[in-house]
Amino acid sequence: MIDELAIRLKARQFMAGLDLSNIDKDLTVYTRKVNAKLTTEEMHPGESGYTLTRRDGKSSIVVNELERRERQRFSACHEVGHLVLGLASNHQETPAWSYAKRDDNEIACDIFASELLMPFDAFKRDVDQDQPSFELVERLRSRYVVSFAACASRLAAVTDYPCAFVFMDATVVRYASRSKALRELNAWVEMRSPIPPGSVAHRLVREGEWSGEDTRVAQDVWFRDWPNGYDLTEMAKHYPTFEETFSLLWFEPDGGPDEPVKVWSGSVAQEDDGRLQELDGVLSFQKKTKKR
Ligand SMILES: [Zn+2]
Repeated sequence: MIDELAIRLKARQFMAGLDLSNIDKDLTVYTRKVNAKLTTEEMHPGESGYTLTRRDGKSSIVVNELERRERQRFSACHEVGHLVLGLASNHQETPAWSYAKRDDNEIACDIFASELLMPFDAFKRDVDQDQPSFELVERLRSRYVVSFAACASRLAAVTDYPCAFVFMDATVVRYASRSKALRELNAWVEMRSPIPPGSVAHRLVREGEWSGEDTRVAQDVWFRDWPNGYDLTEMAKHYPTFEETFSLLWFEPDGGPDEPVKVWSGSVAQEDDGRLQELDGVLSFQKKTKKR
């Protein structure tokens, strides 16, 4: 079982006092602190990086130079996570975002990496400049040099709007991150359920389109046991080649129910224990991951 809160706090402790002004160009401030040197080499497709630690305590972090720059940066910070958290690697056959199949140590290091690449205070300040949108995600991902999914996921987690980021594979909802406001309304996106009919994501998958937006998607399309009569904005991107679809869902702060919704499914109370509400995101996959 992953303690997401503890990992995020460790990352923030690790970052405290460091000069983060240059991390969009250079991650040395992080690698130096773990006594590591960052290099690149050509690796097989699907391999992202590894760390070698010598007897004198110095490490080499190696990332795959054939992958995109954002991916290389994420891999480097993921490896820093292995060193700081003292977690062993298990890097076989685990495509990024396939959280259902990913090892707990790997998910922990991904969480760590997202903290390092998108420092909470600065990222939250930037998110608060504007309402959620794909344009905002694009702006932030170029500023922080991270993948679309990593950026949108963190945006949904930290914004003051009721907002969720949902990741889907070919047909099934795999992962969602929700903002505090959305969690407080008791809005649940059902994991491992089919992509809901009526959603923009569903239409894109069905029609093989790449991108779409609708400002009038009924909230009960996405949220479990939700009253009808409220609309939200959904912006979705679909990548047929990878069979991946992402949706960003949000509505105006007064655009949903006034009171938290009573959700009747019995499992909810166990799923949301409230520990993470001070911080910036319940990553719902963690609660679903099988314990090892
Ligand atoms: Zn790893």
